[in-house]
Amino acid sequence: MDRVRPPREALRDLSPYDAKHLEAEVMLASNENPLNLPGELLERLSDLAQRIPYNRYPDPMATGLREEIAAANGLEPSNVLVGNGGDEIIQDLVLAWGGPGRVVLDFPPTFVMYSIDAKATGSTLVQIPRRPDFSIDEEALKARLADGDVDLIFIANPNNPTGTLAPETLLIDVLNATDALVVVDEAYFEFSRHTMRPHMSRHANLAILRTFSKAFSLAGLRAGYLLAHEDVITELTKVRQPYSVNRFTQAAARLVFRERPVFEAAISQLLRNRDVLVHGLSEIPGVEVFPSEANFVLFRVEHASAVWRDLLKEHSVLVRDFSRTPGLEECLRVSVGTEDEVRRFLAAMEEIMTRRRAAAHFGVAGAHAGSEGE
Ligand SMILES: *Cc1c(COP(=O)(O)O)cnc(C)c1O
Repeated sequence: MDRVRPPREALRDLSPYDAKHLEAEVMLASNENPLNLPGELLERLSDLAQRIPYNRYPDPMATGLREEIAAANGLEPSNVLVGNGGDEIIQDLVLAWGGPGRVVLDFPPTFVMYSIDAKATGSTLVQIPRRPDFSIDEEALKARLADGDVDLIFIANPNNPTGTLAPETLLIDVLNATDALVVVDEAYFEFSRHTMRPHMSRHANLAILRTFSKAFSLAGLRAGYLLAHEDVITELTKVRQPYSVNRFTQAAARLVFRERPVFEAAISQLLRNRDVLVHGLSEIPGVEVFPSEANFVLFRVEHASAVWRDLLKEHSVLVRDFSRTPGLEECLRVSVGTEDEVRRFLAAMEEIMTRRRAAAHFGVAGAHAGSEGE
C-alpha cells in the first residue's frame, strides 16, 4: 500500500510533546536534581546491577519498593502503585478515569501531560484557568463541580510551572464537593514539604502522585508512585503496562528510597540556592519573579524568547521558555541548580538585561546587533 489510513480523530489537534532536549553547560530546564546520585550510592548500585537476572521479567508490582513506600507513608502495599515515572501513572489514571464521554479537569497554566493524555484518550477536557496570581479560581471550580459530571481532577501542588501552592482548605473543599477522583500531584513534595497524605483516610477519592525524578536524582531511570485507596489501585492495574518498571529501576529506586535521608542536605542546599536565585532575579530591573514552593522559579521578562535564546547561545544556560503558553506570556522557568549554576545564570541574566537597557536607551531596535526577530 502506498498510503496508510489516518489514526483516531482525537490525534488531529495534537502535536508531539517537545521536551526541548537541548545540550548546554548549565542545564536548568527540567527541574531535575542538578547532582547525580552520591558516589557511595552509585557504587552500591553497580554492585546491585551485577546481581540482577536481566533475562527475567521484572516484578509487575515492584513489591519490595511498594512495601517500603507504603510503610514510610503509614499505608498498606495495596495503597501504592509504582510506575515508569509519574508520567506513566498520569496516563494510567486518564485511561481508567477518563476516555470518551468522560470529563477530565485541570487548571492551566499547569503540567501539560494532564491535557495531552486527556486529549489522546478522547476524554472531554475541561480547563479552569488560574487567576493572574496563579491561584485556583475556587468559585469557578465549585460552579463547575456542581454540574456533577467531572470524573477526574488534576491539581499539581505545588503547581508546575508556576510554583504555586494551593491552600489545604481549598483542596479539602474540592474533596468534599465531588466524588471525582482528585489527583494531587506532589511531584515537588520534597521541596514544599506539604502533603495531603493525612486526608487520605477520610477521602476515598484522593490520590497522591510522587516521583523519584526531582529531589531523588533518578529522572534518567523513570520511577514514580501513587498513593490511593486500594480500589483505585486495583482499577489502575487493569490498564497499566505490567512490566513498565524494569528490574534495574526497581533496584535503584528501592536503594534511593531506603537511603533518602542522604538527600536531605542537598535538598536544604537547593532551597537556599532558590532564595539566592529569587533574590538575584528580583534585583534585576525589568524582571518580575513569582514566589515558588518548588525547585524552580518562574519569572516574567520583556522579550522572553530572545532572553531565552541569549541565555543559551551566548552563555550556554538552558532554561524553559513558556512565553507561548496562554497565561504565561513573557515567562521563563529556571530550575534551581548548584550554587555555581545559580551564579552563572544570574550573571548571564544581568549581562543580557544590562545590554538590553543600553540598546533601548540608544534606540537600537531589538536587543543587539545580530539578534534576529523575536
Ligand atoms: C516532573 C513532574 C511529574 C512526573 O515526572 P516523572 O519524571 O514522569 O516522574 C509529574 N507531575 C509534575 C507536576 C511534574 O513536574
